[in-house]
Amino acid sequence: RNGKDESGVSGRVRVAVRLRPRNTDEILADADFGDYVELMPELKRLRLRKNNWDSETFQFDEVLTETASQKRVYEVVAKPVVESVLEGYNGTVMAYGQTGTGKTYTLGKLGEEDTAGRGIMVRAMEDILADTTSEQDSVTVSYLQLYMETVQDLLAPEKDNISIVEDPKTGDVSLPGATLVEIKDQKSFVELLEIGEANRFAANTKLNTESSRSHAILLVNVKKMAKLKPERELSSLNENGSNIQLSKNHRIPTIRKSKLLIVDLAGSERVDKSGSEGHTLEEAKYINLSLTALGKCINALAENSPHVPIRDSKLTRLLRDSFGGSARTSLIITIGPSPQHRGETTSTILFGQRAM
Ligand code: ADP
Ligand code: MG
Repeated sequence: RNGKDESGVSGRVRVAVRLRPRNTDEILADADFGDYVELMPELKRLRLRKNNWDSETFQFDEVLTETASQKRVYEVVAKPVVESVLEGYNGTVMAYGQTGTGKTYTLGKLGEEDTAGRGIMVRAMEDILADTTSEQDSVTVSYLQLYMETVQDLLAPEKDNISIVEDPKTGDVSLPGATLVEIKDQKSFVELLEIGEANRFAANTKLNTESSRSHAILLVNVKKMAKLKPERELSSLNENGSNIQLSKNHRIPTIRKSKLLIVDLAGSERVDKSGSEGHTLEEAKYINLSLTALGKCINALAENSPHVPIRDSKLTRLLRDSFGGSARTSLIITIGPSPQHRGETTSTILFGQRAM
């Protein structure tokens, strides 16, 4: 695996930044960034003021303002990944940001009463189902939570320690114990997300933690009959120097397997101060471990480094075959408008910038 796929696309992570609109409290307080963050959506740039005399401008793949619709966010952040998954490549869409900035809204909003509000998971499944209609095609999903370096099955809460298995030859990652549900229609998928969410809430109540402290991971496996392109069939005939027409039976149908991971990451706010917000030091250490490992991997991809430290955490081990190389990876970093969170907003922007 290197940084390029067949089409020459770099393996680096594509990064979009999204600003959440002000909530009621923020409107009442007339909160906004002030002048420390300035979005320049047309230029896909963001300017961060460090102090009175110094600012830095960052380039992103996309800058989404508070007026960006869920549809647009899906189209620029996730759709290219979904399309590549439907072509047989693995892919990942992740949201990173402080708790309360819109990660779950962006990825997981169901939008049952308000279809315009539907998030990336639901829209991705809609596109996947629309393109896996032949009898041999199949779509299966698992839904997991990663908390304190332990993988829990959100579709079967009694399975609270799922192991991650990597094929030493191919590098393929599998989760042998995890529940796999075949998805036939959008309605059953939304129901499954609701069940997962309820189980997540129950599991976290039991563990006495908040969902913001864990990563939620939706895994979509796609099996699809490969459609041979007519040009490709013709050129292979020409290469063989043969003009004998192959009968249909000579075309070996191939099933392509690929997967899409959609990851709602734990809140990026620092929890390393012992006892702050009721977190134990150990919890803080583990939460930071996987996010730090992810940051290092994103950085290594951006620098085309031959060493991507993917084994450093369970999160990155899970991502191993869906991250870099021929896989397409998209990161959306979410920020809120309140000047109160200047420190967290700055560190989120810097995290996103490490991928560029
Ligand atoms: P996170 O998952 O990052 O903790 P949430 O997705 O739960 O944040 O968002 C926090 C609150 O802000 C929720 O009430 C959510 O509905 C709202 N929200 C987030 N992003 C948007 C948006 N783009 N438009 C409208 N409301 C949003
Ligand atoms: Mg959330």
